[in-house]
Amino acid sequence: MSTTKYYLWTVGCQMNKADSEKLAAGFDRLGLKATDRIERADIVVLNTCSVRQHAEDRAYSKLGRIRDLKKQKPDLKVAVMGCMVGLKTDELEKRFPQVDVFARPQQFGPIMELVEGPHEDLGGEFWPSTYAIPEGPAAYVPIVHGCNKFCTYCIVPYRRGREKSRPMDEIVREVNYLARNGVREVTLLGQTVEAYGHDLESQPDLGDLMREVSAIERIARIRFLTSYPKDMTHRILEAVAELPKVMECFSLPVQAGSGAVLESMRRGYTVGEYREKIAEVRKLMPGAGITTDIIVGYPGETEADFEETCALLEELRFDKVHVAAYSPRPGTIAWRKMPDDVPPGEKARRLHRVEAIEARISQEINDTYVGTVQEILIEGIRGEQAFGRTRTGKLVHLDIPARVGSLINASIVHAGPFSLRGVEPNALDLV
Ligand code: SF4
Repeated sequence: MSTTKYYLWTVGCQMNKADSEKLAAGFDRLGLKATDRIERADIVVLNTCSVRQHAEDRAYSKLGRIRDLKKQKPDLKVAVMGCMVGLKTDELEKRFPQVDVFARPQQFGPIMELVEGPHEDLGGEFWPSTYAIPEGPAAYVPIVHGCNKFCTYCIVPYRRGREKSRPMDEIVREVNYLARNGVREVTLLGQTVEAYGHDLESQPDLGDLMREVSAIERIARIRFLTSYPKDMTHRILEAVAELPKVMECFSLPVQAGSGAVLESMRRGYTVGEYREKIAEVRKLMPGAGITTDIIVGYPGETEADFEETCALLEELRFDKVHVAAYSPRPGTIAWRKMPDDVPPGEKARRLHRVEAIEARISQEINDTYVGTVQEILIEGIRGEQAFGRTRTGKLVHLDIPARVGSLINASIVHAGPFSLRGVEPNALDLV
């Protein structure tokens, strides 16, 4: 009998990627084989995202292709998982009868039933000892699932449920496994990563977890994503500053620079509080890398509100700004209660203005790296060039041979808005 092949397609955030890696590890454990050719697959899983319309449209187009495929291959099994599943499942079932199973994020059980037959749900983390097989020296490790914040525009709490932390010993076991399999850098993941631990009995915080992970010898670097300003306590920041293996690199979404818009979004902080948080980070860790997220064209965002966002970006000078035009997500508070009243052309204009500010400031910040020596973890080789990241998260291309997984020092000789170029490494810690 030929081996069952699976095709796994993923869009969306790092959490989705981590879920897919775990599912793939589960399939591999059962003896299935991955294929990147959908027409060769016996099982197709689409891990979807509904944070933006564009991501949903990509899944719809994939489902159209699968409809044709299933006509030629009626035994093909199809599962759709991720954030598109939830509110509109009935509608999806009617529209896409070719799908055998719809599963919410991390609801691996029904997908495994497609493969194994009836499956007993034992509760808790699915297959707690099945870990993704690392593909390089850097890996993602989810530590807290879900979100309790209910920002008005966001679908995540409805699809991923409430915050649920993984026990610390389980995470440490997973990082040990990754370290034994060549991983040198882990990124601890949560939708609001500093929420880690508040629901566990002994109430550890992210700083406590970072200390435990730091003690794992082969792990050289620890990153963490995504931060939520109100959960980011002084105690956690002190741990980041104090622990040499924890990178001084923050992803701290502000979303808007207008107090009125932030309040309408129910983000839970004021512009002033956000400013203070950034000041606290920079006081403890001057030179820390800080990126942010911005939504333009949120319902009711006036020109004056938007100008406040631009002014905040000029003032706080982020290393990178991820900007998106608002699109209403069915099921959210904003979708239910707020008219999407900023015209598409105006949203596009605001988006481009933020991109222009971002490109200029990123270039100016990157220019300050030229002439400095930076510690870089080599993550891969492309052609003749190695590439990796600085402690602050800057992508660096290196004109030298270097081994993947090595930690090196490199002199930065050139800066662009998106990456740096380095030469003359001195091996610090070759593996
Ligand atoms: S903090 Fe807000 S934007 Fe972030 S995942 Fe939670 S609800 Fe969504």
